[in-house]
Amino acid sequence: MEINIRATRLEISKNALAQNMAYIRKVSGAQHIFFAVKSNAYGHGLDIVAPAAVNAGADGLAVAIAEEALHLRSLGILAPILILGHTDPRYAQLCADASVITTVPSLAWLQTAVPYLRHGRKKLLVSLALDTGMNRIGIRTKSELTAAIEFLQTNRDVYQWHGLMTHFATADVSETAYFQMQLQRWHALVDDLAQLPPMIHVANSGATLYHTNEVPTDYVRVGSLGYGWEPSGKLITDGHDLQPIGQLYSELSFVKQIPAGEGISYGHAYITQADEWIGTIPMGYGDGLPIQLQGFEVLVGEMRCPIVGEIAMDQLMVRLPHEVPVGTKVTFIGATNNDQIDIWEIAHYCHLEPWNFMNLITSRVPRMLVN
Ligand SMILES: *Cc1c(COP(=O)(O)O)cnc(C)c1O
Repeated sequence: MEINIRATRLEISKNALAQNMAYIRKVSGAQHIFFAVKSNAYGHGLDIVAPAAVNAGADGLAVAIAEEALHLRSLGILAPILILGHTDPRYAQLCADASVITTVPSLAWLQTAVPYLRHGRKKLLVSLALDTGMNRIGIRTKSELTAAIEFLQTNRDVYQWHGLMTHFATADVSETAYFQMQLQRWHALVDDLAQLPPMIHVANSGATLYHTNEVPTDYVRVGSLGYGWEPSGKLITDGHDLQPIGQLYSELSFVKQIPAGEGISYGHAYITQADEWIGTIPMGYGDGLPIQLQGFEVLVGEMRCPIVGEIAMDQLMVRLPHEVPVGTKVTFIGATNNDQIDIWEIAHYCHLEPWNFMNLITSRVPRMLVN
């Protein structure tokens, strides 16, 4: 039984998740939304987000590594699960037994895995990865693709060819030449195949939103959009009906007045200029806040107040305009009645992207599901 005594928390909104899933479906026409919950659901908390996403309308879940897929199964999640990254072929039967769709990057992988797969057990659901220019994993040539498909067909006792995918490196930037080149390579590899598997999936958030009519979108694999983040950071378009699902809150735990000329926190990086009201917030880099956030203004109630002095492991200080009651809500990410701090504002302040920033939030911060 977990107890939460400290006020610091990351709230996950069910309604926002549902709204984003509905928006993804509307904008892309996707029949199958695979929501990327890799890396602890982009930092939001896998155990809370994964079941909530399935309830909110996700048709499947995508993870990066086999451990994440098996963890989802251990939570009792029955939805289709796709591993996006590389899996050691020696663990192929483990993925097969858990009915996890496994990304296969080469013919050699298929050949290596065969002795580890057991005839008569569940077959491995294979999604072949084509490398069209991400240059991370995948098959690059037509000859290898043809050989891999043949190999799948001659080893039907252990393999089931389920999917075919590629991944775009630049689907979320306004310069589209590289994207178009990748798309051409995809067509060159795929268009004249005699048969295709049921799950053709190429669209990440950028392709789903900005290249909707150019790519297959029956299946989409989206992370950012589901979390309510426009992948270009609103550089390309604006006004999308996306709702951030994560709100990061704490509250003032201690408030006092400090005379002029005193140093605040370790090393005295900040010196009071006058008599100043200083508030303490029970949150620090041990919760994942980057120390570069010093100077950033958080919302104390409705007031923007700068973080002063070095952020410690567990606590940080803010300068208040006047005395403010202990227990006043502090917003790091989220909306108040009159103001809001969005993920871009706080992430860009420390030169990070939303997905980098959220990923830093450690397990010490409890995740709570709200409406
Ligand atoms: C992480 C990942 C995604 C999701 O990316 P978003 O840009 O967050 O939508 C899709 N496909 C692959 C292969 C990935 O690794």
